[in-house]
Amino acid sequence: MQTKLLINGQLVAGEGSAYTVINPAQGSVLVEINEASEAQVDSAVRAADLAFESWSQTTPKERSHLLLKLADAIEAHGGELATLESDNCGKPYHAALNDEIPAIADVFRFFAGASRCLSGSAAGEYLPGHTSMIRRDPIGVVASIAPWNYPLMMVAWKIAPALAAGNTVVLKPSEQTPLTALRLAELAAPIFPAGVLNILFGCGPSVGTPLVTHPKVRMVSLTGSIATGANIISSTSDSVKRMHMELGGKAPVIIFDDADIDAAVEGIRTFGFYNAGQDCTAACRIYAQNDIYERFVEKLGKAVSTIKYGKQGDPSTELGPLITAQHRERVAGFVERAIAQPHIRLITGGKSVPGHGFFFEPTVLADAQQDDEIVRREVFGPVVSVTRFENEAQVVAWANDSDYGLASSLWTADVGRAHRISARLQYGCTWVNTHFMLVSEMPHGGQKLSGYGKDMSMYGLEDYTCIRHVMFKH
Ligand code: NAD
Repeated sequence: MQTKLLINGQLVAGEGSAYTVINPAQGSVLVEINEASEAQVDSAVRAADLAFESWSQTTPKERSHLLLKLADAIEAHGGELATLESDNCGKPYHAALNDEIPAIADVFRFFAGASRCLSGSAAGEYLPGHTSMIRRDPIGVVASIAPWNYPLMMVAWKIAPALAAGNTVVLKPSEQTPLTALRLAELAAPIFPAGVLNILFGCGPSVGTPLVTHPKVRMVSLTGSIATGANIISSTSDSVKRMHMELGGKAPVIIFDDADIDAAVEGIRTFGFYNAGQDCTAACRIYAQNDIYERFVEKLGKAVSTIKYGKQGDPSTELGPLITAQHRERVAGFVERAIAQPHIRLITGGKSVPGHGFFFEPTVLADAQQDDEIVRREVFGPVVSVTRFENEAQVVAWANDSDYGLASSLWTADVGRAHRISARLQYGCTWVNTHFMLVSEMPHGGQKLSGYGKDMSMYGLEDYTCIRHVMFKH
């Protein structure tokens, strides 16, 4: 197993304290890895800073070729990477292999192409005798910080646009799920010039903080929790770094009386529970309209009770474990507090699964009310709540009455209503009659406490550039 860090083109062992990486499906130790020391964090940033000089001057075509090579390497090692990912996250191997690996390779290929299409706006004369032009230039060293829920996918979302735009990167994957990022370090080392991509290992306080606060880091790109985002913003405020924040979510799912109920049930069965609900866009906060409410709750309960949880290698497994015992306790706490309320009905699930591994039963809670904790807070587990609503005005107000603003969906047969409501939802994304669908060409990112900045799409690429004005006197 590859456990070395990538610093300045070299694979080197971490010189900090040892950290134990576990397999959450079995609750067993996978490997111990040494974190980067502060001196190694500094070396990685200095190497990236040095490499920026020449990498930022490469042509888009040159950068594009290297990103395409990395995409090919990821695909060629897809089975191995999917095994590492499913061992480290407990997620089903078939999902890692068939859903994630192709999407990861596609992200690198998209940005390989996108880098060649990036341009400033047209030049012109805005002062007599002068010509102005707009340039989009790279920013410098980007510190990229990734979470544990889709480890390699999040690495791709972070590093592909940053490198494509001509920045150099120091990446820190989550300490809980570093294995695919460290293997990627080995695959990337012969492809990129030394220092262009550096990959560290370690926890937030020991490695994350010295990395993001390093004076030579010009931009921090985080996918993680709101608490971490706020911490990074405040700890770097005196150096005024560029920030790109992809934080939590609590997606409202609005089901109108005229919706195709079976399609909505199937959609929530899939997209409320994919990755054991450990997904910032998970279809978890359901609002169902009065006339279909009881029928919908009954169908959803039946459908969710058939979700099969189990070992990651079993092709029939749909739901893996939660990432840690501590996270499972957190999820169980939300459910216990919810069902302790007299008005909430437990429709299915509700308990931790005994035995090894951190499994939690797929859970549906009905009759939740707008102010309930289960409706307001991100659970990040296989738990959905259902709330009854009367009309459009009420459900739009409730959907928007949230600290989060990442993803949302609405389900209806009425095209006019779909346009009307989707225009009013304060979310980075609204799906109509589906949920969770992401493509490399379209932006992903939030509003409000869900953060700012976009992943994927041309907007994602632009986020990793600065706009500059160059003026010529005739
Ligand atoms: P987390 O915030 O605990 O950790 C995220 C990363 O930040 C980890 O690598 C961690 O080590 C690092 N970190 C922690 N403290 C730090 C510090 N002070 N300085 C620098 N780095 C630090 O989040 P998590 O538990 O790994 O991930 C789950 C969260 O991520 C959820 O809230 C989820 O909604 C969010 N998420 C958002 C998106 C999105 O696209 N918006 C996607 C996936 C996950």
